[in-house]
Amino acid sequence: MNVSIWEKSGSLANTFWEKGSADFPIYDMHGHMGSHYAIYMKRCEAPEMAAHMKRIGVKRLVFSHHEVLWGNMRNAEVVEICKRFPGILRMYVGIVPQYPERIREDLAMFDRWKPYAVGLKFLADYHRIPVTDKAYEYALKFADERGIPVLNHTWGKSPYNGGPVMLEAARKYPNVKFFMGHSIFGEWDYAERCVKETHGNVWLELTAIPGEFGLIEKLVSAVGSERILYGTDLPWFDEYQAVGGVLSAKITENDMRNILYRNAEHILGKEW
Ligand SMILES: [Zn+2]
Repeated sequence: MNVSIWEKSGSLANTFWEKGSADFPIYDMHGHMGSHYAIYMKRCEAPEMAAHMKRIGVKRLVFSHHEVLWGNMRNAEVVEICKRFPGILRMYVGIVPQYPERIREDLAMFDRWKPYAVGLKFLADYHRIPVTDKAYEYALKFADERGIPVLNHTWGKSPYNGGPVMLEAARKYPNVKFFMGHSIFGEWDYAERCVKETHGNVWLELTAIPGEFGLIEKLVSAVGSERILYGTDLPWFDEYQAVGGVLSAKITENDMRNILYRNAEHILGKEW
């Protein structure tokens, strides 16, 4: 336990520990949905997830459904799930590079799927095709024309979505808002370069980071809290763990607010 946080009565963290929920909005920019064959997930369907988010004060979750990413379900079905929880669920249109026809069909629907669809999701590590490959070109051009977010699963040293690949992609498509999921975990030099050596179109996303002591501080000092987005991979990780990690970090309350909601509001507006 970090004693200094408890001593700061009235602080953002202290208020949160006392109430068990946030009195500020939280935007979770990296979620999923659906079960996983190898992992027990306590809450992985929309009703339970939405109830849990309300409990803690998460205003919006932007997610991509597991079954879309595995190729077993279509994005159109996910829109219907969002419609049942219009006040809380938003989606990334899952892009599977092995299905070029689906990509074209789904993107042709994108504008009609608003406000539920807010961007695209790439999972290149799992689909085994680099983000810079031709297979992603159609989707990236689409996102570039509209200036919409693309949440990428990224991870250090990956040939599919590691540092050099992501830097090249972010340079090539200046209007795409690149959300680097997991902040290119482990390749921190490239995480920093992706923010600083591009077009102001890159944000680092925190999933998996709050579980590591000192990393949030390191990223904030490297790129500034204006470039960091909150996310959890819900239902893989829990909101309480991730919010707790942000509120426990040795950063300013201004930084915490940037990460938990201000940056998302800056990118997508206050009502979306
Ligand atoms: Zn994820």
